[in-house]
Amino acid sequence: MSKIEIFLNQITYSLNLRYYKYDLKFKHPFALAAGIREVTPVVYVELESGGFTGYGEAALPPYLPETQESVIRFLSSLDLDRFPGPLQADKMLDYVFSVSEKDFSAKGAFDMALYDLKGKMMSTPCYKMFDAEKENCPLTTFTIGMDKPKVILEKLKEAKDFNLLKIKLGGPFDKLIIETIRKESDKPICADANQGWKDRQFALDMIHYLEEMGAVFVEQPLSKEDISDAEWLKEKSPLPIIADEAVQTYDDIVSIKDAYHGVNIKLMKCGGMREALKMIKQARLFGLKILIGCMSESSCGVSAAAQLSPLADWADLDGPLLISNDPFKGITYKDGRIVLNDLPGNGIVKKVEN
Ligand code: MG
Repeated sequence: MSKIEIFLNQITYSLNLRYYKYDLKFKHPFALAAGIREVTPVVYVELESGGFTGYGEAALPPYLPETQESVIRFLSSLDLDRFPGPLQADKMLDYVFSVSEKDFSAKGAFDMALYDLKGKMMSTPCYKMFDAEKENCPLTTFTIGMDKPKVILEKLKEAKDFNLLKIKLGGPFDKLIIETIRKESDKPICADANQGWKDRQFALDMIHYLEEMGAVFVEQPLSKEDISDAEWLKEKSPLPIIADEAVQTYDDIVSIKDAYHGVNIKLMKCGGMREALKMIKQARLFGLKILIGCMSESSCGVSAAAQLSPLADWADLDGPLLISNDPFKGITYKDGRIVLNDLPGNGIVKKVEN
């Protein structure tokens, strides 16, 4: 613990928790194996103490069990009066995690607001608290959803500053999508099948095809339930296979370590920055690759995840680029890499007052 942390820990601060709903609008309707949609509901969290405000975000795509109502219910059940100040972050998070077994997006929003607040009170960017070096920020992907060739070509233009394209697959036109992209671009790609391939031999054939087409890795080819098929695929695959839907929290890493080459860690799945850091350390112990990802989120959530990105092999943190009404400013991108700023906390500034 640093001297400033010891000093600040001795002071009692009041802690105010606020939250409100917001809808993030996609620039293009977003198509995945699970369906198509135009907005993502979110809940923003504000944690205020000592004149500083930390911000967090719970992103709630409809295929996940949490909703804006469930997040607000969870947050309104918290009793923070028992804590003398926000710098006892670990104790506070232990309590927040004890309140329910699920509610990971709500916990994640609280966790990132708490880290943002703590960083601001200590005048320290959060990445420094995690011993991450911003020179090591990885390439981030730019996501291209499943669409008609005309729309895919438009999205390719938007991706011109990015050097790793993430292609959403798992539907009937996968090869057409890849061929459309390859006619225009020779950039490295990665593919996310979102559990859309139903058969392990078909998945292996697709992975061989994708390797020939310049893919770097493949995410969640088969259903998250198919662990034995995933082990079969891992043994035979010429490309790293990354678990996304198959891994939610820290406890899941042990069960998938022999079935995948790596994990996609998202703050919304695991419950925030503290849990994500634990998962990164555990995954590295098993020799797994790390992709740090996001849901459809604004700069608030993505900038929190980006604080951990120097510890990952790749990032999938393009959320703010895909929406038209981001209420925050945060990380930027240069030559396809994430750029962390030196603002304290998660490096975010709120743009509009609600
Ligand atoms: Mg995925």
